[in-house]
Amino acid sequence: MTKEENYLKHKKETVIRIIDHYNKNHTKKDKCNLVQDRNNFDLDQTFCSSEHCIHCGECCQSFPCVFSPNDFLDIKNIDYMLNILNTGLVCVGFNKAHFIIRPRGLKDKDAFGIQTGAYTTNGNRCLLLGKNGCLLNANYRPSEELLYYLDANQYDHHVLYDEDSYIEDYWEYRDIIYELMGKYKTVFNQSDVTKLLDERIKIIDSFYKDDETIITERAKQLIKAING
Ligand code: SF4
Repeated sequence: MTKEENYLKHKKETVIRIIDHYNKNHTKKDKCNLVQDRNNFDLDQTFCSSEHCIHCGECCQSFPCVFSPNDFLDIKNIDYMLNILNTGLVCVGFNKAHFIIRPRGLKDKDAFGIQTGAYTTNGNRCLLLGKNGCLLNANYRPSEELLYYLDANQYDHHVLYDEDSYIEDYWEYRDIIYELMGKYKTVFNQSDVTKLLDERIKIIDSFYKDDETIITERAKQLIKAING
């Protein structure tokens, strides 16, 4: 099995666990039936597909979404997690005073992200939002946003992995993230992150006329790091 196949298997298991948890807490009428065959489904076609993302991206323009701790192969492996953070595209953030891990936004200039959540990070556009939607394909997209899906009228979003759910999932890893933050602070590359943010702002200011080479290349590094 290749690293990509191994990661995809892991990601699908994570998604199924999240949906099972969601369904346990919802009545029959509101249950999610998107995954008919648990052993064979396509993440992009099943959930918030890139096709819709291109035409929307509204949330991503306001605040970055959040990874599940289980989106990573092993959140307890500090070196693995440092490789992911070192791409500069991901940071440790805080939501309601809890640690979470999420993509970096334009306002996250330091080692650690600012408080996350719609009210405190409005305008903290995600660095990974490209001219054609998210630069991470569905297999690597953080579970919070991946598991937004449109209903039949293609208008309303349903949120399968909400704030309370991911905060609950991160709780058991709080000591690990605290340790990770300490180590990351010593290797955090401020000038590298500033370069990424500057490039992103330049592209946004020029209404996407510039190409996205640097950020796209960095997104590939992030995917490689997530694969382990
Ligand atoms: S990672 Fe992708 S889906 Fe999540 S906020 Fe950024 S652009 Fe949007």
